Amino acid sequence: MDINAVKLKNNLIHWLCAHDAANIEIDYEEDFGYAIGDNDIRCINLGVTKWHEEAVYFEQFLYEYGCEYVDIPIPVLAFLHELGHHFTLSNFTDFELKFYEIIKGALSNFTDFELKFCENINSADTEESDFDFFYHYWELPDEFAANMWVVDFINNNIDDVNELSYIYWNGWKEIKNPLELVEENYYEY
Ligand SMILES: [Zn+2]
Repeated sequence: MDINAVKLKNNLIHWLCAHDAANIEIDYEEDFGYAIGDNDIRCINLGVTKWHEEAVYFEQFLYEYGCEYVDIPIPVLAFLHELGHHFTLSNFTDFELKFYEIIKGALSNFTDFELKFCENINSADTEESDFDFFYHYWELPDEFAANMWVVDFINNNIDDVNELSYIYWNGWKEIKNPLELVEENYYEY
């Protein structure tokens, strides 16, 4: 793996350890995610390709739900969202999480599911838009819990968030071929 990609991982792990989140692995995937694997291994996946699409929406969503700071880089918001899952998943039963997963699975069965879903809704002549679609997704209970953790964390720890942004961007811009990292990832779940 690109030495700079390893460096970024290590720096993020170091930041996590300093914020009560030890023992989380970092991996590179197409999209952001949080995974619990065999032997209770926790992993935050850094999204390499997919993180711009909802960018505008997510920033505004957090802002509307009380986030007092804007202009935090989108990948950093996405990273914090996954960390939010780490700290809030235990609020839900396995059954509840499975239930939400089924809803998300149904949504992802669409190719470009956001767009098709919204086109269908729009063609039915309602007021809904892709904007509303993402809001519904982020308001699913497990997503909402993670998002409110993010709002709370940002509002109370902006210096730490700025430090994270600095680590993230400085590391990210040194990585030459981010797409290759998706092929090389090595944590299996
Ligand atoms: Zn999530």
